[in-house]
Amino acid sequence: MTRSSTPTAPGFSDRGRGKRVAVADRIADPWGARTPTARNGDWPPRVDEVVDGPVERWVESACVLCSNGCGLDIGVRYGRIVGVRGREVDRVNHGRLGPKGLYGWQANNAPDRLTRPLVRDAGGLREASWEEAMELVAERAREQLTSKGSGALAFYTTGQLFLEDYYTLAVVARGGIGTNHLDGNTRLCTATSGQSLKETFGSDGQPGSYTDVEHCDTLFHVGINVAETQTVLWMRQLDRLHGPDPPRLVVIDPRPTRAAREADVHLAVRSGTNVAILNALLHELIANGRVDQEFIDLHTVGFVALENVVEAYPPERVAEICGVDAGEIREAARILGDAERLLSIVLQGVYQSHQATAAACQVNNLNLVRGMIGRPGCGILQMNGQPTAQNTRETGCNGDLPGFRNWQNDAHVAELAQLWNVEPLQIPHWGPPTHAMEIFRYAEQGSISFLWIIGTNPAVSLPEVARIRSILEQERLFTVVSDAFLSETAQLADVVLPAALWGEKTGTFTNADRTVHLSEKAVDPPGEARPDMEIFLDFARRLRLEDKDGQPLVKWSTPEECFEAWKECSKGQPCDYSGLTYERLRGGSGIQWPCTAEQPDGTERLYTDHVFPTGPDVCEDYGHDIQSGYAFTEMEFRALNPLGRAILKAADWVEPPEWPSDDYPLQLNTGRTVYHFHTRTKTARAPELDAAAPDVWVEIASADAERLGVAEGDLCRVESARGTVEARARISGIRPGVVFVPFHYGYWDTDDGAAPDGRPRAANELTITRWDPVSKQPVYKTAAVRVTKVADSDGTPSPAPTVTASAPA
Ligand code: SF4
Repeated sequence: MTRSSTPTAPGFSDRGRGKRVAVADRIADPWGARTPTARNGDWPPRVDEVVDGPVERWVESACVLCSNGCGLDIGVRYGRIVGVRGREVDRVNHGRLGPKGLYGWQANNAPDRLTRPLVRDAGGLREASWEEAMELVAERAREQLTSKGSGALAFYTTGQLFLEDYYTLAVVARGGIGTNHLDGNTRLCTATSGQSLKETFGSDGQPGSYTDVEHCDTLFHVGINVAETQTVLWMRQLDRLHGPDPPRLVVIDPRPTRAAREADVHLAVRSGTNVAILNALLHELIANGRVDQEFIDLHTVGFVALENVVEAYPPERVAEICGVDAGEIREAARILGDAERLLSIVLQGVYQSHQATAAACQVNNLNLVRGMIGRPGCGILQMNGQPTAQNTRETGCNGDLPGFRNWQNDAHVAELAQLWNVEPLQIPHWGPPTHAMEIFRYAEQGSISFLWIIGTNPAVSLPEVARIRSILEQERLFTVVSDAFLSETAQLADVVLPAALWGEKTGTFTNADRTVHLSEKAVDPPGEARPDMEIFLDFARRLRLEDKDGQPLVKWSTPEECFEAWKECSKGQPCDYSGLTYERLRGGSGIQWPCTAEQPDGTERLYTDHVFPTGPDVCEDYGHDIQSGYAFTEMEFRALNPLGRAILKAADWVEPPEWPSDDYPLQLNTGRTVYHFHTRTKTARAPELDAAAPDVWVEIASADAERLGVAEGDLCRVESARGTVEARARISGIRPGVVFVPFHYGYWDTDDGAAPDGRPRAANELTITRWDPVSKQPVYKTAAVRVTKVADSDGTPSPAPTVTASAPA
């Protein structure tokens, strides 16, 4: 491939500072050149661009390869996507793009895109017309509805569609079919983010803003490898860290991430001990009087209970639990206690653990006891894992009701019923919406017999994938898969529907700091592939889903009409989009919700008045005991009487469901690398990204490797009680006792295409079917494993990247 930054300027460019670097440098250096930023200064622009030859026209969009949501333009020539460039005017990235954004668009042009529906017959999957495929889907749905009722149908969606796709699906599933079984793979990545915000503040909604990076004096990273998962957000922080008056940085992570290497204090804790370390930090802040008592008294409830719990977590005790130095815990607490503007950032190291919500709430607590919220530089980013995970949560595709409404509040249900013109009882709210892990349990047990999987790949991404494969292989389960590629999951489906990707449809999506972008259609989808919203509309028509006046339930036919309907649904809710239009989103930057007539330019940060949505009539959730998962009733919530104050919730640390044993003496940590997104259905189809991280690896600490007789590049077997992975070793700086395996790798592109009969390489062969009791997010970070050497290195280097957290020791 040849590349040019403009039709007349061949090569890759980092523009905006007059600098050009070779294309390979953004694989070797994913973060690019520094543009140092002073405290309270403006983050300088730097426009990153990769194009393959001349561009005929640029089409406005944003990147959908992580939750950062960088604004970009799509370059088009002869009806094909030929490149991207960052949008300099966009508040999220000021023109920057990371490796996934720069190269990931090539997946749209992949020769193996699905272009026609497939249906299964005795000979396997064969091509079919849309009419045949959709009639089959509708017929099986009707059969199940008639014979078993709405509870037989389930939908498992994603964090990568557009808002319009999700909202249409939510209306179809909740208002039309009336099933409670609608959840997203956001359960795996972002459920704890939303849940912890509900527990502490009464409602989902990210309090902070990316601009807090410019204003903070202290950064606190808990379980987030931001340099790799939200690359451009790390560039923003690096530019502060390498600018004048840099913020101090505390990092909690068992791996030597890029951020850990920049940190003032890196607490490389034992996996599964987040609550203990956070309790110790809170203990130190309280014991040393480093709390804002006036803020606590005026704006929070629960401080005494929190104080009582964390009293039992002095640094010496916690040092033993977490395997870190007590002095370093004290030093971290001192930095957090000295902060005047504290920005805390959290992700999967917290969320994918057995006490996920409990730990995430302690980070919220930490900012609250310091009174550091709702002011520039004082923020919490409970980050999202996927690009449009925020929309999954807002629209009700993740196990909540649309618009952050409370399923236990009849008035909230009645509002939705009025909006959709259906009876309130049509909208399931007799119990909590079914979470993803339960959906698969019900499918395993047979009560769910129709499962539609949309834009996600559970045969690789869910825990204990041997079990998931066996569920999907059942004859009694009718499985529909909508996807752009024949993923491992699609290969097991009864019907496969070819879906349009980003760039091939118009719609909006919202990033982790509430910034809404419009993504315009740049090119036609290949063959007969269709946008997901159109597929759901077709399904609704075939099922004759109607409102109570006998009119079609779904009243829109275009994305913009759907967006207007969504504005009505969100109006007056915390995620209020009513001041936005497609036109307003064109030509400039994305805009943060809430955006209303009164706040037409959006809202930079929430809770500037320190009033939180914790009134019983407005809250999204009555909350839980974060230790046990017990769901509070309305009466119990009213008794707590938060009424606009934030809720400090405390929890004791408990051991993970699996702890190292003689048989399995190591802890498995799974996660991502900067070059790939999820199960690589897109990023492995971008040659530069694929080449940068072509195969699975296992990271082992030097001390463990020496004990096991393992050298760099040796083929190792990693075994848990559930399965096996074979991978080449990278001897890295990971904490001793912990091994890391990236979860990206499945089997669709293996040579024999036959694994798991061949070499098993999906990290989720090893993981356990357990979840956090509050957010129901699966546990991916603490499976007990053993590692044995299978064969000496054949001389080829380990496939692990060398400039990231997986760098050689
Ligand atoms: S940081 Fe995320 S949104 Fe931005 S370019 Fe990279 S993958 Fe895309």
